[in-house]
Amino acid sequence: VRFGSVAGRFVLVRGNRALDVAHASGGSLPAEPVAVLERWADLLSWSESADWAGAFDVTPEQLGPPVPSPRQVFAIALNYAPHAAEAGFEPPVQPLVFTKFPSCITGPVAEVTLPEGNVDWEIEVVAVVGRGGYGIPREKAWDALAGITLGQDLSERVLQLTGKPPQFSLAKSHPGFGPIGPVVVTADELADRDDLAFESSIAGETIQHGRTSQMIFAVDDLVARLSAVCRLLPGDLIFTGTPEGVGNRRTPQRFLQPDETLVSRLDGVGEIRQTFRQAIAD
Ligand code: ZN
Repeated sequence: VRFGSVAGRFVLVRGNRALDVAHASGGSLPAEPVAVLERWADLLSWSESADWAGAFDVTPEQLGPPVPSPRQVFAIALNYAPHAAEAGFEPPVQPLVFTKFPSCITGPVAEVTLPEGNVDWEIEVVAVVGRGGYGIPREKAWDALAGITLGQDLSERVLQLTGKPPQFSLAKSHPGFGPIGPVVVTADELADRDDLAFESSIAGETIQHGRTSQMIFAVDDLVARLSAVCRLLPGDLIFTGTPEGVGNRRTPQRFLQPDETLVSRLDGVGEIRQTFRQAIAD
């Protein structure tokens, strides 16, 4: 199953066709994405015999974030050893967890206004919670997830690192700083859920690439560790960390500039694209 949202409504997606599940189910399933994810088992069984006659064409620009209003957004720092090294840290012995406040979540194709400071890229695979739960054992972790999507953990480095005090979560939560999509893909549709290749580029130049098999804490391990503290709720997002190649650890440093477009791809999931704009002075 592949799903996303159009105009805030939950849709199943096949190629460039989308099926509005609230309409197609005659109202037996709701329209709001978190409400559908609360009915995850019902959605899966309904989808097996869903009638696609009412499906419609959808463009990447029409897709919104697969979960527009998650209740919790977890994000993991330093989850790839080479990135921890470039950032000047030892690989952590447990995940370093912060949040991106949910108002930063935006769709797969977006314009993002650059705030004051230095805005950097962080391509990340994002796990999307389905059934969720509390105290989920690692071997049951994938059963608690709806699937996998792609995101960028956009980060303003001045506030994040040299603010007094440094503001990790705030600096990663400006409007548009959490693009996700284009769709969520269930693990059974992925070639290998623990080894997905991803890459990002600007104007055709690759700036980051990696594979999820290189994570220090794998997706199932993250679910177990996070749910040992917080109850994971349907629709919650887990940004799983970025590999090496971020702009502020380059020599010279490089940050996102007005009118640049950042393109990111994840095997089996698709592509997201953000174009950056200068703030208009008032
Ligand atoms: Zn990150």
